[in-house]
Amino acid sequence: MLRFWFKEFPQYPCDHTDYWRTRLISYALLVTTSYFLLLTIINIVTFSNFSLALLDGTGLLFSLGIFAWFRATGNVTVASWAVTIMVTALILLFVTSAKGYSHSLYWATLVPPFAFFLLGRKFGTAVSTFTFFICVLVVYKQMETQQPGYFAFGSLLNVIEVSVAHILLFRFYEQARSSAYNTLAIRNTEILQLAETDKLTGLFNREKLESTLITLLSKVDEQHPLSVMLLDVDHFKKINDQYGHFEGDKVLRVLAKKLQELMREEDVVARWGGEEFVVLCATTSLEKAMQLAQRIREDIAKQVISGHALTISVGVAQYVPSDSLDSLLGRADVGLYQAKNNGRNSVIAA
Ligand code: GH3
Ligand code: MG
Ligand code: MG
Repeated sequence: MLRFWFKEFPQYPCDHTDYWRTRLISYALLVTTSYFLLLTIINIVTFSNFSLALLDGTGLLFSLGIFAWFRATGNVTVASWAVTIMVTALILLFVTSAKGYSHSLYWATLVPPFAFFLLGRKFGTAVSTFTFFICVLVVYKQMETQQPGYFAFGSLLNVIEVSVAHILLFRFYEQARSSAYNTLAIRNTEILQLAETDKLTGLFNREKLESTLITLLSKVDEQHPLSVMLLDVDHFKKINDQYGHFEGDKVLRVLAKKLQELMREEDVVARWGGEEFVVLCATTSLEKAMQLAQRIREDIAKQVISGHALTISVGVAQYVPSDSLDSLLGRADVGLYQAKNNGRNSVIAA
């Protein structure tokens, strides 16, 4: 029913650290707006108290102003401060004007959950300490002047002790909450990285290659052609047969590093599987990709890779509008097949 009030900000998805802050800001503003609206109406209609109605009306405008500004900018830091200051000021205004009577001090206990959640440990401590300090002053004044039987020294101690306990407890809770969030965020990044990395070479794996290719395909137009290369090591089986699988693995690792060094910064290099690699070249025509592939083929043939003289064969294809992901890579594979038939150590476009 109130869905319109709770805007989903695309920059704060539900696993973002600030997601629940945006929710608390919206909740708080919904409550303050409703309270102020109700009190303005009651003060006008029932009590005909126009000066109080004006005060509540001003509060209503503040609430709505912060709400509209927050929706427009999505600035969590400023909105957090605005809401905390408004709520804290309201509570302190009430506590001081009620002079601590009628258990009005209870309201002050709402400040720490707000301030710690919205402002973090440092500023949460500062705002809560300030609020409780005012409460202690209120009780102290009562104890000094009126009704010492009711506001005795014990009352003062109670307020101080509970205030300190509140601040310490909320500091602890906020640290536990934020460190749990941070640990989860770090783990998430690590897991994401593992899921898209090839274990042997450290290059992007096939899944990540395909998702990157889908993203790049959506950006292709006449000014931004896209070409792909499919590279395969010639007679790689011989290295395994002659020197063993571990040596073969080492050669693949060194070759992967070499390929990444030889490619341009913007090219995406991935392991397709076995001793085959794919390179995605954004904003690159077939002609340019062919030159690039020839240069890399020559460089590899000239170098000694982990003690072995290697050559590679390459198939190159440029994306055409009728292509799917499979047909594009399929054409590069046809080029590779022809390069192998051509006697290897060569580059063929398809
Ligand atoms: P071609 O020139 O026709 O490509 O010959 P090739 O020997 O490279 O091709 P083939 O596909 O017959 O063999 C590829 C070899 O790559 C077979 C396999 O043992 C080896 N290979 C695939 N993946 C790995 C790997 O992760 N580690 C090692 N050491 N070898 C691998
Ligand atoms: Mg192969
Ligand atoms: Mg091979």
